[in-house]
Amino acid sequence: MATVAVIGSIMTDLITYLDRMPERGETIAAPSFAMGHGGKGANQATAAARLGSEVVMVAKVGTDSFGEQTLANFRANGIDTTDVTVTEGPSGVAPIFVEPDGSNRVVIVPGANESLTPADVEGARERIAGAAIIVLQLEIPLPTVYAAIELGAELGVPVLLNPAPANAELDFDQVARCAFFAPNESELALLTGMPVETLEEIEAAAQTLLAKGVREVLVTLGERGVLRCTADGVEHIAGITVQAADSTGAGDAFIGAFAHRYAADGDIGGAIEFANRYAADSVTRRGTQSSFATAEEFAG
Ligand code: ADP
Repeated sequence: MATVAVIGSIMTDLITYLDRMPERGETIAAPSFAMGHGGKGANQATAAARLGSEVVMVAKVGTDSFGEQTLANFRANGIDTTDVTVTEGPSGVAPIFVEPDGSNRVVIVPGANESLTPADVEGARERIAGAAIIVLQLEIPLPTVYAAIELGAELGVPVLLNPAPANAELDFDQVARCAFFAPNESELALLTGMPVETLEEIEAAAQTLLAKGVREVLVTLGERGVLRCTADGVEHIAGITVQAADSTGAGDAFIGAFAHRYAADGDIGGAIEFANRYAADSVTRRGTQSSFATAEEFAG
């Protein structure tokens, strides 16, 4: 199986389900709580690994039980943790508050993710060199993201950058060195300052990125599917109609599945179509990583 290298974040989701948010200074009891493995990097790595890719993860956890549980979860999913290092201090966590109507408030505490450095990327050079694709997001410091793009260029390994969460400081000279740039609609809006309601507007926004030298823009459109924009033209891959239960993590399912399939044979169109189906399937189940099917479960 081909190898996917994911250089990115790890979080532990701390999800409190409450009847209402407490007022300032108020203490309330909440009906339930759940923990989940998260972080965009970890989620994308997990999707690719469940589908059968060899996955090299380059990331940092802290010296707490969240870090230990993360490493155990990676091993359970068959992810190579050689380059997941432990750094003094807390792991990344995401306290999430969910109200009865499903609306949520999310706080990200990056913790160890902030200390993932260009030197950590360099330390994983040999394993990254064996990968068919490098996958990046923006929950780690930008200099580390740029170091990974640089290493990909040097090694001749194509890079996919998922600009999540969107960061207005992102350097598009660096993005232009990536093979794939995969924002969702809101990230595209934030990065371009343009409206993204209609497909025409989304295409116009993506065109401004192509004008900046970005080679291939894959905009994920939720239930509307994916818009693929390159210098050769624009293609809309329609969404798959499913009984949606929870779209949390759909973007990560898409990226992980795209990387898995692209790494296998380099067929971009096939990888988009596969990832669109895999992400739609994940939406039919609750949770983030828990909604990602294995290759056996996903008849794709
Ligand atoms: P994000 O999770 O980053 O907001 P999207 O909402 O764009 O990402 O979803 C990513 C992909 O997941 C979409 O391109 C599509 O393939 C799939 N998807 C998401 N929501 C649905 C849905 N309701 N029905 C079918 N597919 C979906």
